[in-house]
Amino acid sequence: MSFISSLSGKSVVVFGAGVTGQPTIEFLNSKSAKTILVDEKLTSPDISNDLSNVDLDKIDFAVVSPGWKVDNPLILELKRAGVSIISEIDLAWRVKQEIRPQQKWLALTGTNGKTTAVQMAEAMLVADGQNAVACGNIGITAIEAVINSEAEILILELSSFQLEWSVEALFVSVAILNIAEDHIDWHGSFDNYANAKFKITNNAETVILNALDSAIVRRAKNLTHPIIWFSLETPKPHQLGLVENLIVDRAFISDEAEALFELSDISPAVPHNVLNAMAAAGLARSVGSRAESIAQALRSFKLDHHRLEVVAERNGVIWIDDSKATNPHAAMAALNSQLKSIWIAGGLAKGATMDELVKSCSSRIKAAILIGSDGPLIASALAKNAPEIPIHHVNEYSDSLDLMNKVVAVAAELAVSGDTVLLAPACASMDQFNNYSERGQLFAQAVKGLLNE
Ligand code: ADP
Repeated sequence: MSFISSLSGKSVVVFGAGVTGQPTIEFLNSKSAKTILVDEKLTSPDISNDLSNVDLDKIDFAVVSPGWKVDNPLILELKRAGVSIISEIDLAWRVKQEIRPQQKWLALTGTNGKTTAVQMAEAMLVADGQNAVACGNIGITAIEAVINSEAEILILELSSFQLEWSVEALFVSVAILNIAEDHIDWHGSFDNYANAKFKITNNAETVILNALDSAIVRRAKNLTHPIIWFSLETPKPHQLGLVENLIVDRAFISDEAEALFELSDISPAVPHNVLNAMAAAGLARSVGSRAESIAQALRSFKLDHHRLEVVAERNGVIWIDDSKATNPHAAMAALNSQLKSIWIAGGLAKGATMDELVKSCSSRIKAAILIGSDGPLIASALAKNAPEIPIHHVNEYSDSLDLMNKVVAVAAELAVSGDTVLLAPACASMDQFNNYSERGQLFAQAVKGLLNE
Protein backbone atom coordinates (compact mmCIF):
# COMPACT_ATOMS: atom_id res chain seq x y z
CA MET A 1 0.00 0.00 0.00
CA SER A 2 1.23 3.49 -0.73
CA PHE A 3 2.42 5.61 2.17
CA ILE A 4 -0.17 8.30 1.49
CA SER A 5 -3.13 5.92 1.35
CA SER A 6 -1.83 4.13 4.45
CA LEU A 7 -2.34 7.35 6.44
CA SER A 8 -6.12 6.97 6.48
CA GLY A 9 -7.22 6.05 10.00
CA LYS A 10 -3.65 6.15 11.38
CA SER A 11 -3.06 7.87 14.73
CA VAL A 12 -0.23 10.35 14.37
CA VAL A 13 1.32 12.62 17.00
CA VAL A 14 2.70 15.90 15.63
CA PHE A 15 5.23 17.61 17.88
CA GLY A 16 5.17 21.40 17.53
CA ALA A 17 2.23 23.63 16.65
CA GLY A 18 4.24 26.34 14.87
CA VAL A 19 5.02 27.08 11.23
CA THR A 20 6.03 23.49 10.52
CA GLY A 21 3.44 21.72 12.67
CA GLN A 22 0.41 23.49 11.21
CA PRO A 23 0.84 22.48 7.55
CA THR A 24 1.89 19.00 8.70
CA ILE A 25 -1.35 18.58 10.64
CA GLU A 26 -3.37 19.95 7.71
CA PHE A 27 -1.77 17.48 5.33
CA LEU A 28 -2.28 14.50 7.65
CA ASN A 29 -5.90 15.48 8.32
CA SER A 30 -6.53 15.82 4.59
CA LYS A 31 -5.49 12.16 4.29
CA SER A 32 -7.93 11.16 7.08
CA ALA A 33 -5.26 10.50 9.69
CA LYS A 34 -6.26 10.97 13.35
CA THR A 35 -3.85 13.62 14.56
CA ILE A 36 -2.80 14.74 18.01
CA LEU A 37 -0.97 18.05 18.18
CA VAL A 38 1.49 18.36 21.05
CA ASP A 39 3.24 21.57 22.05
CA GLU A 40 4.69 22.27 25.47
CA LYS A 41 4.51 26.04 25.14
CA LEU A 42 1.32 26.86 23.24
CA THR A 43 -2.13 26.37 24.73
CA SER A 44 -5.39 26.02 22.82
CA PRO A 45 -8.24 23.47 22.85
CA ASP A 46 -6.60 21.66 19.88
CA ILE A 47 -3.16 21.38 21.49
CA SER A 48 -2.02 18.95 24.20
CA ASN A 49 0.82 20.08 26.43
CA ASP A 50 1.81 16.51 27.28
CA LEU A 51 0.96 12.91 26.42
CA SER A 52 -1.04 12.14 29.58
CA ASN A 53 -4.34 11.75 27.70
CA VAL A 54 -2.82 9.82 24.82
CA ASP A 55 -2.97 6.03 24.62
CA LEU A 56 0.59 5.42 23.40
CA ASP A 57 -0.21 1.86 22.28
CA LYS A 58 -2.56 3.28 19.68
CA ILE A 59 -0.08 5.71 18.11
CA ASP A 60 1.20 4.61 14.69
CA PHE A 61 3.98 7.16 14.29
CA ALA A 62 4.97 10.73 15.13
CA VAL A 63 6.22 13.71 13.14
CA VAL A 64 8.53 16.18 14.81
CA SER A 65 8.99 19.88 13.98
CA PRO A 66 12.45 21.46 14.14
CA GLY A 67 13.41 22.72 17.58
CA TRP A 68 12.51 19.53 19.49
CA LYS A 69 15.48 17.97 21.20
CA VAL A 70 16.06 14.26 20.71
CA ASP A 71 16.13 13.86 24.49
CA ASN A 72 12.93 15.84 25.16
CA PRO A 73 11.00 13.87 27.85
CA LEU A 74 7.87 13.61 25.67
CA ILE A 75 9.91 12.34 22.72
CA LEU A 76 11.63 9.81 24.99
CA GLU A 77 8.25 8.70 26.32
CA LEU A 78 7.07 7.92 22.78
CA LYS A 79 10.36 6.23 21.91
CA ARG A 80 10.10 4.01 24.99
CA ALA A 81 6.63 3.03 23.81
CA GLY A 82 8.24 1.90 20.53
CA VAL A 83 6.68 4.61 18.35
CA SER A 84 8.64 5.59 15.26
CA ILE A 85 9.37 9.31 15.01
CA ILE A 86 10.18 11.06 11.73
CA SER A 87 10.98 14.66 10.80
CA GLU A 88 8.70 16.84 8.70
CA ILE A 89 11.44 16.72 6.03
CA ASP A 90 11.27 12.92 5.89
CA LEU A 91 7.46 13.03 5.85
CA ALA A 92 7.65 15.41 2.88
CA TRP A 93 10.19 13.09 1.22
CA ARG A 94 7.88 10.08 1.51
CA VAL A 95 5.03 12.08 -0.01
CA LYS A 96 7.25 13.45 -2.80
CA GLN A 97 8.39 9.95 -3.69
CA GLU A 98 4.79 9.11 -4.48
CA ILE A 99 3.34 12.26 -6.01
CA ARG A 100 6.44 13.78 -7.65
CA PRO A 101 9.02 11.00 -8.02
CA GLN A 102 10.99 12.99 -10.63
CA GLN A 103 11.36 16.05 -8.38
CA LYS A 104 15.00 16.69 -7.48
CA TRP A 105 16.03 17.84 -4.04
CA LEU A 106 19.03 20.07 -3.33
CA ALA A 107 19.92 21.19 0.18
CA LEU A 108 22.11 23.69 1.95
CA THR A 109 23.13 24.26 5.52
CA GLY A 110 25.63 26.36 7.45
CA THR A 111 25.80 28.55 10.49
CA ASN A 112 25.32 31.74 8.48
CA GLY A 113 24.23 32.69 4.99
CA LYS A 114 21.75 29.84 4.47
CA THR A 115 18.79 32.04 3.56
CA THR A 116 20.90 34.21 1.29
CA ALA A 117 22.52 31.30 -0.55
CA VAL A 118 19.26 29.38 -0.95
CA GLN A 119 17.55 32.49 -2.33
CA MET A 120 20.47 32.96 -4.72
CA ALA A 121 20.26 29.33 -5.90
CA GLU A 122 16.52 29.67 -6.48
CA ALA A 123 17.05 32.89 -8.48
CA MET A 124 19.78 31.20 -10.57
CA LEU A 125 17.60 28.20 -11.43
CA VAL A 126 14.57 30.35 -12.20
CA ALA A 127 16.74 32.55 -14.47
CA ASP A 128 17.78 29.31 -16.17
CA GLY A 129 14.14 28.52 -16.92
CA GLN A 130 13.94 25.70 -14.38
CA ASN A 131 10.93 25.31 -12.11
CA ALA A 132 12.67 25.56 -8.73
CA VAL A 133 11.35 26.55 -5.31
CA ALA A 134 13.20 27.32 -2.07
CA CYS A 135 11.71 25.82 1.06
CA GLY A 136 12.49 24.29 4.44
CA ASN A 137 13.51 26.96 6.87
CA ILE A 138 12.61 29.67 4.41
CA GLY A 139 9.21 30.77 3.06
CA ILE A 140 7.29 27.53 2.95
CA THR A 141 7.91 24.18 4.62
CA ALA A 142 8.98 21.10 2.66
CA ILE A 143 5.56 19.46 2.95
CA GLU A 144 3.86 22.60 1.57
CA ALA A 145 6.35 22.81 -1.30
CA VAL A 146 5.78 19.16 -2.22
CA ILE A 147 1.99 19.37 -2.11
CA ASN A 148 1.29 22.88 -3.37
CA SER A 149 3.97 23.63 -5.94
CA GLU A 150 4.58 22.02 -9.31
CA ALA A 151 8.32 22.45 -8.78
CA GLU A 152 10.74 20.13 -10.54
CA ILE A 153 13.48 21.12 -8.10
CA LEU A 154 13.29 21.93 -4.40
CA ILE A 155 16.15 23.77 -2.71
CA LEU A 156 15.91 23.07 1.00
CA GLU A 157 17.41 25.32 3.62
CA LEU A 158 18.09 22.97 6.52
CA SER A 159 18.99 24.02 10.04
CA SER A 160 20.94 21.83 12.45
CA PHE A 161 17.62 21.16 14.24
CA GLN A 162 16.11 19.66 11.10
CA LEU A 163 19.24 17.72 10.25
CA GLU A 164 19.39 16.21 13.72
CA TRP A 165 16.12 14.44 12.91
CA SER A 166 16.20 13.69 9.18
CA VAL A 167 17.49 10.43 7.68
CA GLU A 168 15.44 9.43 4.63
CA ALA A 169 15.59 12.27 2.12
CA LEU A 170 18.09 11.90 -0.75
CA PHE A 171 19.74 14.91 -2.37
CA VAL A 172 21.27 15.41 -5.81
CA SER A 173 23.69 17.81 -4.18
CA VAL A 174 24.16 19.48 -0.82
CA ALA A 175 26.30 22.43 0.27
CA ILE A 176 27.74 23.43 3.64
CA LEU A 177 28.60 27.12 3.80
CA ASN A 178 30.37 27.32 7.15
CA ILE A 179 30.26 25.87 10.66
CA ALA A 180 30.87 28.15 13.62
CA GLU A 181 29.72 28.39 17.23
CA ASP A 182 25.93 28.77 17.50
CA HIS A 183 23.06 27.07 19.34
CA ILE A 184 25.57 25.44 21.69
CA ASP A 185 22.95 25.66 24.46
CA TRP A 186 20.64 23.48 22.32
CA HIS A 187 23.16 20.94 20.99
CA GLY A 188 25.26 20.68 24.14
CA SER A 189 28.64 21.11 22.43
CA PHE A 190 30.23 22.46 19.26
CA ASP A 191 30.99 18.91 18.15
CA ASN A 192 27.35 17.83 18.43
CA TYR A 193 26.28 20.92 16.49
CA ALA A 194 28.89 20.46 13.76
CA ASN A 195 28.11 16.75 13.46
CA ALA A 196 24.40 17.54 13.09
CA LYS A 197 25.28 19.88 10.21
CA PHE A 198 27.44 17.22 8.58
CA LYS A 199 24.51 14.80 8.59
CA ILE A 200 23.40 16.65 5.45
CA THR A 201 26.12 14.75 3.55
CA ASN A 202 24.80 11.31 4.51
CA ASN A 203 22.36 10.95 1.63
CA ALA A 204 23.90 13.18 -1.02
CA GLU A 205 25.27 12.31 -4.45
CA THR A 206 27.54 15.37 -4.56
CA VAL A 207 28.84 17.40 -1.63
CA ILE A 208 29.82 21.06 -2.09
CA LEU A 209 32.03 22.40 0.70
CA ASN A 210 33.74 25.61 1.77
CA ALA A 211 37.49 24.98 1.66
CA LEU A 212 38.19 28.06 3.80
CA ASP A 213 36.32 26.74 6.83
CA SER A 214 38.54 24.68 9.11
CA ALA A 215 35.65 22.95 10.93
CA ILE A 216 34.36 21.73 7.55
CA VAL A 217 37.77 20.71 6.18
CA ARG A 218 38.50 18.67 9.32
CA ARG A 219 35.22 16.76 9.20
CA ALA A 220 35.33 16.22 5.41
CA LYS A 221 38.31 13.88 5.85
CA ASN A 222 35.86 11.13 6.79
CA LEU A 223 33.67 11.53 3.71
CA THR A 224 33.72 9.04 0.87
CA HIS A 225 31.57 11.20 -1.49
CA PRO A 226 32.79 13.17 -4.48
CA ILE A 227 33.54 16.58 -2.94
CA ILE A 228 33.48 19.87 -4.79
CA TRP A 229 35.37 22.53 -2.87
CA PHE A 230 34.79 26.26 -3.21
CA SER A 231 37.08 29.04 -2.01
CA LEU A 232 38.41 32.48 -2.88
CA GLU A 233 41.56 30.94 -4.31
CA THR A 234 42.52 29.77 -7.83
CA PRO A 235 40.49 26.59 -8.41
CA LYS A 236 42.04 23.20 -9.06
CA PRO A 237 40.08 20.43 -10.84
CA HIS A 238 36.82 19.61 -8.94
CA GLN A 239 36.73 23.09 -7.43
CA LEU A 240 35.03 26.46 -7.79
CA GLY A 241 37.28 29.42 -7.14
CA LEU A 242 38.40 32.91 -7.95
CA VAL A 243 40.73 33.95 -10.77
CA GLU A 244 41.28 37.72 -10.59
CA ASN A 245 37.73 39.06 -10.72
CA LEU A 246 36.14 35.91 -12.16
CA ILE A 247 34.39 33.07 -10.35
CA VAL A 248 35.48 29.98 -12.22
CA ASP A 249 33.99 26.48 -12.34
CA ARG A 250 36.42 23.56 -12.73
CA ALA A 251 34.01 21.03 -11.29
CA PHE A 252 30.81 20.77 -13.28
CA ILE A 253 32.21 20.93 -16.81
CA SER A 254 34.09 18.52 -18.97
CA ASP A 255 36.30 21.27 -20.41
CA GLU A 256 39.17 22.76 -18.48
CA ALA A 257 37.28 25.67 -16.85
CA GLU A 258 34.32 28.00 -17.34
CA ALA A 259 33.85 31.51 -15.94
CA LEU A 260 30.48 31.70 -14.16
CA PHE A 261 30.26 35.34 -13.08
CA GLU A 262 32.29 38.37 -12.10
CA LEU A 263 32.77 39.87 -8.67
CA SER A 264 30.96 42.97 -9.92
CA ASP A 265 27.82 40.85 -10.49
CA ILE A 266 27.49 40.38 -6.70
CA SER A 267 26.26 43.06 -4.34
CA PRO A 268 27.84 43.54 -1.89
CA ALA A 269 30.94 41.74 -3.19
CA VAL A 270 32.32 41.21 0.33
CA PRO A 271 34.12 37.87 0.89
CA HIS A 272 31.36 36.07 2.79
CA ASN A 273 28.76 37.01 0.21
CA VAL A 274 30.99 35.84 -2.65
CA LEU A 275 31.23 32.47 -0.88
CA ASN A 276 27.43 32.39 -0.57
CA ALA A 277 27.14 32.99 -4.31
CA MET A 278 29.68 30.22 -5.01
CA ALA A 279 27.81 27.67 -2.90
CA ALA A 280 24.55 28.65 -4.61
CA ALA A 281 26.20 28.40 -8.02
CA GLY A 282 27.48 24.92 -7.13
CA LEU A 283 23.95 23.74 -6.34
CA ALA A 284 22.59 25.33 -9.53
CA ARG A 285 25.36 23.78 -11.64
CA SER A 286 24.67 20.33 -10.19
CA VAL A 287 21.31 20.41 -11.97
CA GLY A 288 22.67 21.86 -15.18
CA SER A 289 22.26 25.63 -14.83
CA ARG A 290 24.09 27.69 -17.47
CA ALA A 291 26.73 30.24 -16.49
CA GLU A 292 24.77 33.12 -18.13
CA SER A 293 21.71 32.36 -15.97
CA ILE A 294 23.82 32.37 -12.81
CA ALA A 295 25.41 35.73 -13.64
CA GLN A 296 22.08 37.23 -14.68
CA ALA A 297 20.39 36.14 -11.43
CA LEU A 298 23.18 37.57 -9.30
CA ARG A 299 23.07 40.94 -11.06
CA SER A 300 19.50 41.54 -9.90
CA PHE A 301 19.82 39.78 -6.52
CA LYS A 302 19.30 41.87 -3.39
CA LEU A 303 20.10 40.71 0.13
CA ASP A 304 17.03 40.35 2.32
CA HIS A 305 16.25 42.90 5.05
CA HIS A 306 18.49 43.07 8.15
CA ARG A 307 21.48 41.61 6.30
CA LEU A 308 24.08 44.34 5.72
CA GLU A 309 21.17 46.65 4.91
CA VAL A 310 22.20 50.28 4.52
CA VAL A 311 19.49 52.24 6.32
CA ALA A 312 21.02 55.72 5.95
CA GLU A 313 24.08 57.56 4.72
CA ARG A 314 24.68 61.08 6.03
CA ASN A 315 27.78 63.29 6.39
CA GLY A 316 30.06 60.44 5.34
CA VAL A 317 28.66 58.06 7.99
CA ILE A 318 26.99 54.83 6.84
CA TRP A 319 24.34 53.28 9.12
CA ILE A 320 24.00 49.53 8.57
CA ASP A 321 21.41 47.09 9.92
CA ASP A 322 22.81 43.57 10.18
CA SER A 323 20.41 42.58 12.94
CA LYS A 324 20.35 39.04 11.52
CA ALA A 325 23.89 38.63 12.91
CA THR A 326 22.68 36.55 15.85
CA ASN A 327 26.01 34.82 16.50
CA PRO A 328 29.69 35.88 16.63
CA HIS A 329 30.55 34.35 13.24
CA ALA A 330 27.96 36.51 11.41
CA ALA A 331 29.04 39.62 13.33
CA MET A 332 32.64 38.87 12.36
CA ALA A 333 31.67 38.80 8.68
CA ALA A 334 29.82 42.12 9.07
CA LEU A 335 32.70 43.82 10.91
CA ASN A 336 35.20 42.54 8.33
CA SER A 337 33.07 43.98 5.53
CA GLN A 338 33.58 47.56 6.87
CA LEU A 339 36.78 49.53 7.49
CA LYS A 340 35.94 51.14 10.84
CA SER A 341 32.74 50.57 12.78
CA ILE A 342 30.98 51.85 15.81
CA TRP A 343 29.70 48.44 16.73
CA ILE A 344 26.30 47.90 18.36
CA ALA A 345 26.18 44.45 19.94
CA GLY A 346 24.67 42.33 22.70
CA GLY A 347 21.55 40.34 23.54
CA LEU A 348 21.47 36.59 24.17
CA ALA A 349 24.76 34.84 23.31
CA LYS A 350 23.22 31.31 23.44
CA GLY A 351 26.36 29.89 25.05
CA ALA A 352 28.79 31.32 22.47
CA THR A 353 32.07 32.97 23.42
CA MET A 354 33.15 36.36 22.06
CA ASP A 355 36.97 36.21 22.35
CA GLU A 356 37.74 35.06 18.82
CA LEU A 357 35.41 37.65 17.32
CA VAL A 358 36.97 40.48 19.31
CA LYS A 359 40.53 39.28 18.62
CA SER A 360 40.07 38.98 14.87
CA CYS A 361 38.08 42.21 14.38
CA SER A 362 39.58 44.59 16.95
CA SER A 363 41.33 46.73 14.33
CA ARG A 364 37.96 47.42 12.70
CA ILE A 365 36.10 48.47 15.86
CA LYS A 366 36.30 52.13 16.83
CA ALA A 367 33.94 51.84 19.79
CA ALA A 368 31.36 49.38 21.08
CA ILE A 369 27.84 50.18 22.26
CA LEU A 370 26.57 47.22 24.27
CA ILE A 371 23.01 46.19 25.14
CA GLY A 372 21.14 43.22 26.57
CA SER A 373 21.78 40.30 28.88
CA ASP A 374 25.12 39.33 27.36
CA GLY A 375 26.42 42.87 26.83
CA PRO A 376 28.73 42.25 29.84
CA LEU A 377 30.07 39.06 28.16
CA ILE A 378 31.15 41.13 25.14
CA ALA A 379 32.51 43.86 27.44
CA SER A 380 34.78 41.37 29.19
CA ALA A 381 35.97 39.91 25.85
CA LEU A 382 36.80 43.48 24.75
CA ALA A 383 38.53 44.32 28.04
CA LYS A 384 40.61 41.15 27.80
CA ASN A 385 41.53 41.20 24.11
CA ALA A 386 41.25 44.82 22.99
CA PRO A 387 41.30 47.10 26.04
CA GLU A 388 41.90 50.17 23.85
CA ILE A 389 38.35 50.01 22.42
CA PRO A 390 35.98 52.33 24.31
CA ILE A 391 32.80 50.68 25.58
CA HIS A 392 29.42 52.36 26.11
CA HIS A 393 26.63 50.50 27.89
CA VAL A 394 22.99 51.41 27.34
CA ASN A 395 21.07 49.84 30.20
CA GLU A 396 18.31 52.25 31.07
CA TYR A 397 15.31 52.56 28.81
CA SER A 398 11.54 52.45 28.95
CA ASP A 399 10.79 50.27 25.90
CA SER A 400 12.53 48.75 22.87
CA LEU A 401 12.24 51.89 20.72
CA ASP A 402 13.52 54.05 23.56
CA LEU A 403 16.48 51.65 23.85
CA MET A 404 17.30 52.01 20.15
CA ASN A 405 16.85 55.81 20.29
CA LYS A 406 19.41 55.93 23.09
CA VAL A 407 21.82 53.57 21.29
CA VAL A 408 21.60 55.61 18.10
CA ALA A 409 22.11 58.89 20.01
CA VAL A 410 25.36 57.52 21.52
CA ALA A 411 26.49 56.32 18.06
CA ALA A 412 25.77 59.73 16.53
CA GLU A 413 28.02 61.39 19.16
CA LEU A 414 30.90 59.05 18.26
CA ALA A 415 30.64 58.79 14.46
CA VAL A 416 32.68 60.97 12.11
CA SER A 417 32.93 60.93 8.31
CA GLY A 418 34.33 57.60 7.10
CA ASP A 419 32.83 55.58 9.96
CA THR A 420 30.14 52.93 9.77
CA VAL A 421 27.58 52.55 12.53
CA LEU A 422 26.97 48.82 12.46
CA LEU A 423 24.21 46.93 14.22
CA ALA A 424 25.65 43.38 14.18
CA PRO A 425 24.77 42.15 17.66
CA ALA A 426 26.44 38.67 17.64
CA CYS A 427 23.51 37.65 19.83
CA ALA A 428 19.84 36.71 19.62
CA SER A 429 17.38 39.48 20.40
CA MET A 430 14.61 37.97 22.51
CA ASP A 431 15.72 39.45 25.83
CA GLN A 432 14.82 42.95 24.57
CA PHE A 433 12.90 42.57 21.29
CA ASN A 434 10.31 40.23 19.81
CA ASN A 435 12.81 39.04 17.21
CA TYR A 436 15.82 40.13 15.13
CA SER A 437 13.59 41.80 12.59
CA GLU A 438 11.96 44.07 15.19
CA ARG A 439 15.44 44.89 16.49
CA GLY A 440 16.51 45.93 12.99
CA GLN A 441 13.32 47.86 12.25
CA LEU A 442 13.56 49.86 15.47
CA PHE A 443 17.22 50.61 14.74
CA ALA A 444 16.28 51.93 11.28
CA GLN A 445 13.39 53.92 12.77
CA ALA A 446 15.66 55.44 15.42
CA VAL A 447 18.32 56.33 12.81
CA LYS A 448 15.78 57.96 10.51
CA GLY A 449 14.20 59.77 13.46
CA LEU A 450 17.56 61.19 14.51
CA LEU A 451 18.71 62.18 11.03
CA ASN A 452 15.43 63.88 10.16
CA GLU A 453 15.34 65.97 13.30
P1 ADP B 1 20.94 32.17 7.90
O1 ADP B 1 19.71 31.78 7.15
O2 ADP B 1 21.97 31.08 7.95
O3 ADP B 1 20.68 32.78 9.23
P2 ADP B 1 21.26 34.68 6.49
O4 ADP B 1 21.49 34.74 5.02
O5 ADP B 1 19.91 35.02 7.00
O6 ADP B 1 21.68 33.25 6.98
O7 ADP B 1 22.36 35.60 7.21
C1 ADP B 1 22.50 35.56 8.63
C2 ADP B 1 23.58 36.48 9.08
O8 ADP B 1 24.84 36.01 8.66
C3 ADP B 1 23.50 37.91 8.56
O9 ADP B 1 23.95 38.74 9.59
C4 ADP B 1 24.46 37.92 7.39
O10 ADP B 1 25.00 39.21 7.15
C5 ADP B 1 25.53 36.95 7.85
N1 ADP B 1 26.10 36.16 6.77
C6 ADP B 1 25.58 35.87 5.55
N2 ADP B 1 26.39 35.04 4.88
C7 ADP B 1 27.44 34.77 5.68
C8 ADP B 1 28.60 33.95 5.55
N3 ADP B 1 28.84 33.26 4.45
N4 ADP B 1 29.47 33.93 6.60
C9 ADP B 1 29.24 34.64 7.72
N5 ADP B 1 28.16 35.43 7.91
C10 ADP B 1 27.26 35.48 6.90
